[in-house]
Amino acid sequence: MTAVTADNDARLASIIDSMDDEEVECRGPAGHSFALDRRRRKGSRLKGVEAVRQVDGCYLVIETCLECGMVERWSVTLPGGAYDVDVIYRYRYSRRWKKVPQELGRVGKRTFRVVADARAGGPYRAIVLEAARVTDRAPGEVPQARFRHG
Ligand SMILES: [Zn+2]
Repeated sequence: MTAVTADNDARLASIIDSMDDEEVECRGPAGHSFALDRRRRKGSRLKGVEAVRQVDGCYLVIETCLECGMVERWSVTLPGGAYDVDVIYRYRYSRRWKKVPQELGRVGKRTFRVVADARAGGPYRAIVLEAARVTDRAPGEVPQARFRHG
């Protein structure tokens, strides 16, 4: 358990302030965007993906995050290039990626969402207020769920 101190908070705030916007976004709930995780669409499927055939017939796959461009994800396929359900991913980070020292504790994705939203001028609240304006419901009403499960 990390002790929360004013000094640690200040160090952490300074590190977060120094992060590029792209890093803050990728540390948020959406996470990184790797080409092979995305929905299958036609066109530009090769963007952000390199593959190198290995001597055993497996392929070394190197994907670069399509959002931040600061993280590579390395993996190996089954022989012939098929996806391995037991795949092990290894990540390599650009020097621009700011690490958060372990002693400062773990910063959650929701915290980065707040930081990203503040940097962008508060679109979250603006979208909620606009949605409330165009949603045709009486104040205080709790609509019936459209989906029944969960
Ligand atoms: Zn990213």
